[in-house]
Amino acid sequence: MKAVVVNQASNGVEIINHDLPKIGHGEALVKVEYCGVCHTDLHVANGDFGQVPGRILGHEGIGIVTEIADDVTSLKVGDRVSIAWFFEGCGHCEYCTTGRETLCRTVKNAGYSVDGGMSEYAVVTADYAVKVPEGLDPAQASSITCAGVTTYKAIKEGGAAPGQWIAVYGAGGLGNLAVQYAKKVFNAHVVAIDINNDKLELAKQVGADLVVNGKEIEDVAGFIQEKTGGCHSAVVTAVSKVAFNQAVDSVRAGGTVVAVGLPSEMMDVSIVKTVLDGIKIVGSLVGTRKDLEEAFQFGAEGLVVPVVEKCPVDDAPAIFDEMEKGLIQGRKVLDFSL
Ligand SMILES: [Zn+2]
Ligand SMILES: [Zn+2]
Repeated sequence: MKAVVVNQASNGVEIINHDLPKIGHGEALVKVEYCGVCHTDLHVANGDFGQVPGRILGHEGIGIVTEIADDVTSLKVGDRVSIAWFFEGCGHCEYCTTGRETLCRTVKNAGYSVDGGMSEYAVVTADYAVKVPEGLDPAQASSITCAGVTTYKAIKEGGAAPGQWIAVYGAGGLGNLAVQYAKKVFNAHVVAIDINNDKLELAKQVGADLVVNGKEIEDVAGFIQEKTGGCHSAVVTAVSKVAFNQAVDSVRAGGTVVAVGLPSEMMDVSIVKTVLDGIKIVGSLVGTRKDLEEAFQFGAEGLVVPVVEKCPVDDAPAIFDEMEKGLIQGRKVLDFSL
């Protein structure tokens, strides 16, 4: 079968002919329909988290179950399911038993520590594959499997409530979905910040009340404070230290800054401001199975519509190159039927 893997030098991707995987206890075989290409895949391909040559990439996989192990009761043949970054937790540690399973210290991540969804067939741990509801387009579901659930969870972590202002830093693949969840699901007011006017135009189209180009406005945080009275929360998807620092300055007292993007830099945090204004800074990583189930459902109800572009699997190396150069709008999704 065709598979997109980390190349042997662990500095990019290649397409290979891979053996068909076999399932074991508790597992299911999935015929992959779509798999989105995420910035995290680029980190894995480049060996930023450690070298994994030969690993099948992809954690935005969607496909149909074609086979289940004898002991599987949570899935049946024909179900449409996800292959997500949170691939499997241990199920018994303090995180797994308290609704914080993504923090499990022995977590398995699809497309990194185990083979992922960028292949014609993939193996999932049945109890951890989340079913895609009726009415949700599978290509759009692929984008919700990572970008969607990540932003949905981050907004939750920010404590969003109706009528509040949420700042979304970075209006790319993640940010665009963050705007939609914030606006349509949480009924919040949204300000989107980016340095690319095309991305800001897209953010406006999907519901941002206010957009700010960080290159055109000198004091971004001051501008946001003036227009909104300070945001109640900020979700930072931008891979930029500048954005993190602006986010801290754009929330009101008691506000929460949720870190999602992963620039390998430090952020500057004023201890005085943090204490006197009661600012909370929290990290948020993908979402639990329950978060993904919810994020899917809002997609199925039409509240959130990911912008996806279907591409042939053979385009994968070129897509990784474009991503490296920051040229991708919305989400590119590998289509295994093309
Ligand atoms: Zn991802
Ligand atoms: Zn665990």
